[in-house]
Amino acid sequence: MTIKEIKAKSILRKHKKIDSWFLSGYGMNLYRGCAHNCVYCDGRAEKYYVEGEFGLDVAVKVNAIDILKRELDPKRKRKPPRSSYIMLGGGVGDCYQPADNKYSLSRQTLELLDFYNLPVHVLTKSTLIERDMDILKSINNKKRAVISFSFSSMDEKISALFEPGVPAPDKRLDTLLKFKKQGFACGMFLMPVIPFITDGPELIEQSVKSAAKTGLDFIIFGGMTLKPGRQKDYFMNVLRASYPQLAPQYDLIYTDSQWGEATREYYQSINQTFFTLARAYGMPVRMPLRLYSDILDENDRVVVLLEHIDYLLKMKGERSYFGYAAYSVSQVKEPLSSVREKLGTLKGVGPDIKRVILDILDTGRSSYYDKLSGNRV
Ligand code: SF4
Repeated sequence: MTIKEIKAKSILRKHKKIDSWFLSGYGMNLYRGCAHNCVYCDGRAEKYYVEGEFGLDVAVKVNAIDILKRELDPKRKRKPPRSSYIMLGGGVGDCYQPADNKYSLSRQTLELLDFYNLPVHVLTKSTLIERDMDILKSINNKKRAVISFSFSSMDEKISALFEPGVPAPDKRLDTLLKFKKQGFACGMFLMPVIPFITDGPELIEQSVKSAAKTGLDFIIFGGMTLKPGRQKDYFMNVLRASYPQLAPQYDLIYTDSQWGEATREYYQSINQTFFTLARAYGMPVRMPLRLYSDILDENDRVVVLLEHIDYLLKMKGERSYFGYAAYSVSQVKEPLSSVREKLGTLKGVGPDIKRVILDILDTGRSSYYDKLSGNRV
């Protein structure tokens, strides 16, 4: 592995719209590149401009903490920061990859978030996060720290091939259990599932069952993308070496779309499998309201609930305009409760969706969402 120390100009990235998967309004990359070297990682795609050989070359933003100090300092801001989780992880490099043993950028970031009383959502595949349990506890006591791990399945052999640089799935689950026992909200991101390898009902059920048994608060599911270019070429080479018989099936579902999506029919079928199993095990498939009702402001809470309703309706095979309405609401600058009478003029907000929004503004929750989710998912 080659480490290159670089200077970044900025660290905190504000999302244009609240992210309803992670409930974050801000994200960051402390590293560029990732020594975990997952075969399917989309950080490898040209679109992200990660220099060098992905998986071997890692750039460390050595001035990240100084910049973050400035970016988080409320005295330097005209407006208070958006009230949401700050996302640590994901993007183009795991925040707890091996380089963090030496540089501790994740820990120092958490210390800053703790100092400024900000909630955090950490997503990783590394058990190194246990090193920072103490500081995460402090954040969790004051605000909240959500700990999530990603998995492609619970199968150790498949993981060793496709996720060569990370601890085995049961070790990741052990770490989640340790955090759970310390009172943290914890989640599993079962994504990406690998087509025709980890997307079958047996392996999905094993993951859902493990999440339920560990007492996780949610499980979020997603299929794999393969962007044409470096990401797809690298993945297909590994696939052809170990599963040559599957290559023609990949050609059928990945038709080289710009964003690397598989066909809609393929995603629908795996989503259905997952959704049925998650319901059977009583696992929430989105982050539950109790994890964000005290964190998001009313506009963002409405956006998230509308998007969660959109997801549930689509999982049930129904047509939904809730996602479109969520986008319109996300563009409103004033507090929604101050423009109640204008809600019906927003694009995508018809009488039914307006009723749902008013319910959220009046009660802080959505009875329609509760009904759709059976109060659990
Ligand atoms: S841990 Fe995440 S960022 Fe790192 S290689 Fe794997 S998928 Fe990519």
